[in-house]
Amino acid sequence: MELQDLKGVGKHTLTLLHKLNIYSLKDLVFYFPFRYNDFKKTNYEDFQDGATILIEGVVCSVPTVFYIKPKLSKMMFQIQTEFGLFGIEIYNRDYLKKQLPIHTEVMVIGKLNQRRQVIVATDIRFGSLDRERIEGVYRTTYGLSKKQLQQYISQALESYVCEDSILPIEIQEKYHFQNRKQAILEVHRPTSLRNLDVALKQLKYEELFLFMLQMTALRETKHHKMGLKRNIPIERLENCIQSLPFALTIDQRKALSEIVDDLNRETRMNRLLQGDVGSGKTVVALLAMYANYLSGYQSALMAPTEILATQHYETIRKFLTPYGVRIGLLTGKMKAKEKKEFMTLLKENQLDIVVGTHALFQEQVSYANLGFVITDEQHRFGVNQRSNLKNKGITPDILYMSATPIPRTYALTIYGDMDVSNIRSMPSGRKQVITLLKKENEIRSVLEMMWQELQQHHQIYVIAPLIEESEKIDLENVNALQLKMHKAFGKYYQIGCLHGKMSSAEKDQVMLQFQNNEIQILISTTVIEVGVDCPNATMIVIFDSFRFGLSALHQLRGRVGRGALQSYCILIADHETDRLSILTKTNDGFQISEEDFLLRGSGDLFGNKQSGDMSFYLADLKKDYPILLKAKEDSEQFYRSSKYQENPFYKKMIEDCQTLG
Ligand code: ADP
Ligand code: MG
Repeated sequence: MELQDLKGVGKHTLTLLHKLNIYSLKDLVFYFPFRYNDFKKTNYEDFQDGATILIEGVVCSVPTVFYIKPKLSKMMFQIQTEFGLFGIEIYNRDYLKKQLPIHTEVMVIGKLNQRRQVIVATDIRFGSLDRERIEGVYRTTYGLSKKQLQQYISQALESYVCEDSILPIEIQEKYHFQNRKQAILEVHRPTSLRNLDVALKQLKYEELFLFMLQMTALRETKHHKMGLKRNIPIERLENCIQSLPFALTIDQRKALSEIVDDLNRETRMNRLLQGDVGSGKTVVALLAMYANYLSGYQSALMAPTEILATQHYETIRKFLTPYGVRIGLLTGKMKAKEKKEFMTLLKENQLDIVVGTHALFQEQVSYANLGFVITDEQHRFGVNQRSNLKNKGITPDILYMSATPIPRTYALTIYGDMDVSNIRSMPSGRKQVITLLKKENEIRSVLEMMWQELQQHHQIYVIAPLIEESEKIDLENVNALQLKMHKAFGKYYQIGCLHGKMSSAEKDQVMLQFQNNEIQILISTTVIEVGVDCPNATMIVIFDSFRFGLSALHQLRGRVGRGALQSYCILIADHETDRLSILTKTNDGFQISEEDFLLRGSGDLFGNKQSGDMSFYLADLKKDYPILLKAKEDSEQFYRSSKYQENPFYKKMIEDCQTLG
């Protein structure tokens, strides 16, 4: 069964689900709430003035509705409760009036005004609470209501066939793990906080065990694994380097030579290339692929999104076409016929470098002689996709690129099998971006700074506050901000807007206008985070910046300072200014990620929410580090005991790793 077989899922819904990174029934089953509402009757002694309480009662007066403003209504009624009569006030729920006749049983959640014996409600639920009720809240996207999403998840849960356990029996016994489906259900619809906690731990452990087992298998076999032996003609590579419009930085040189050494060596490459946005990783990757081409093999570059894939493709084409390198791009947008052509060329060795998303490693794609795979920002590529590579080429060398460096301690645990190249220095001629922290009430001075940049014919990004739960509110925020900017600058400058509700064609259109300087101020949610290059943009103003992770802010800041002009990043925040102040002190992505990781954990570090690139469904490398350590120990023991030989699932998994190592 597939996603589109679910009731109510058509083509449109499918694209919405894809936005949430849901591509299969399994993805849906493993799409878990990101937080929970815990409904529990408030004890009477906690009925303090101003406290948020949950109370049950029966409607005992007909609700009356007032319209304070056209879009602001207030509804009032009374309920009889075990603690006496309470007045209820709730805003903008006039549509509930019909459902609240006298004698209706309701639960009200809201703020208590003790003197008036009134509750200003934020939520009204029907029925009564026989026991504590915990309700999962799912992150969704504009156009897909929570109710719809929940309904799809329910359907998926019903039809998803799931093994009782995929963990080795001795592990199940050691931890007294419950039936797997049971645990999955518990995380979606918890029966109690305790049971939820137990189920979460089990599923996280499962993910981490499988992950660490593969890591162990890879590491243990790596050193014996033979790869391709090449003899790269260095003069030809050097020619290409000399023809670049700039000189490589020392760090770029060093990284490239480490990669070339790996390629020439008999053992297989498994290397991580880390460096800030704009530090020149792509250029290094491109030269490495050229080196691989010179030794007679095909290369594949995998990007996390199609936009990035397309951008890489353009760059590579620009630099390498003059050298006779044949380059191909595979995207989801391509027609069946184009795809087929692409496959044929690839198979017949008429393409030397191919760029795309993880579609590059689907089963129907076959390579003539794939020698080198590079993945950009693709933490998920981990091991699962490596096994997809198995029959595609002759044991390719693998290079990972990342702009969010992983702190050393964690890297050692997780990527213990990898070599690392770092690009720490930026290309010369770049000025450091100056970062300033401003309070909400200092907006005037921010507008003045913006004005100065605009008068010098520079351009500005403005990032609107991000509300995680609702793109609809996002849109309202973007609109409010647009109004503000219009008041200040609308007479003299053009203002454009980017938000999640726009189609990608519309977005591209606006981006193009910005690039052509037809728009001077671009207001946006984080959509621009991914790969735009506009050297004339010299300022980025980020509202509610405390809502973002440090690494995400650092990435956003990377949008400016891309040319020779002095650039500025203005962080507006009334909260958590201590945390944010690190950004005013350093532009070093390595240091920032270290701090970010300490503060927030891996989920945010990898920018999951923005890029949609999840490493795990549930586990978080930092927050769940204790579970990770257990999983590591257990998996190593399991591997060494060779018990996996008896279990076909594990046997295959480990053998795959061993052939790939
Ligand atoms: P990354 O992939 O790390 O984000 P890129 O390789 O895309 O960085 O480089 C960012 C920009 O800097 C590109 O426009 C690229 O052409 C340019 N660039 C790369 N290396 C250098 C260098 N050594 N000197 C000057 N400019 C460079
Ligand atoms: Mg790049």
